[in-house]
Amino acid sequence: MRLGDDIDDYCSRCKRSTDHSIVSMVGEEVSKVRCRTCNSEHNFKHNKGSKEMTAKEAFDKVLASVTGAQQSIPETSKAKRRKK
Ligand SMILES: [Zn+2]
Repeated sequence: MRLGDDIDDYCSRCKRSTDHSIVSMVGEEVSKVRCRTCNSEHNFKHNKGSKEMTAKEAFDKVLASVTGAQQSIPETSKAKRRKK
């Protein structure tokens, strides 16, 4: 893993996992990535959307769930589907 490599990560702008390029690293850890779809740079999220949410991301997520655009809430929706 090094600068410029391709890496999958969650993009809060695209609201899904997309191809990213590594733009910054701290030691062995990927620090920042750039989305290849929308070209926005953000901190590497380890391909998880909900680990470290900024206030804006949290707001976007709430907004998305209200408008019904958010479709990937794995654990919660699974639990709700179980009726037994
Ligand atoms: Zn993106």
